[in-house]
Amino acid sequence: MVIEQKELEFKLKLCCDSITIKTDKVMFNSILDNLISNAMKFTEKGKIIIKTKTVKEESNSYLIIKVIDTGIGIPEENINLIFDEFKQLSEGTVKEYPGSGLGLSITKKYVNLLNGIISVESAAGIGTTFIVKFSLD
Ligand code: ADP
Repeated sequence: MVIEQKELEFKLKLCCDSITIKTDKVMFNSILDNLISNAMKFTEKGKIIIKTKTVKEESNSYLIIKVIDTGIGIPEENINLIFDEFKQLSEGTVKEYPGSGLGLSITKKYVNLLNGIISVESAAGIGTTFIVKFSLD
């Protein structure tokens, strides 16, 4: 699956020229890799946007990364299942989007190991946004 083969626009909306975060490079890259690969996989048309921002809450600073797509979305009743191992929402139907169903469960474990938080907002047929939040302190 190559991005050019689909009608996809790829946008980076970065908050800052550079951000320093003390973390595990392999896990961090794997988290982003998985979320961006899924965005590309489950989106046929439209945009994939990577947005970053930093926020301060009380005396702590956080990095927030959003991976936004305009793809097939996730039905509300399934949103709690997607981080489960071997869960694919296309299960039982035509295997239009093959995969292991492991990517998001590993991603969530990595985010938790890095003391981060992952969340998702989605609307079926409209798109999905995955949000990861890491401490910068
Ligand atoms: P897989 O390797 O099968 O894609 P994942 O664990 O990465 O497994 O994802 C689990 C399920 O969550 C996918 O099969 C898909 O149904 C849903 N999903 C994940 N990311 C997206 C997305 N960006 N848009 C729509 N559905 C998604």
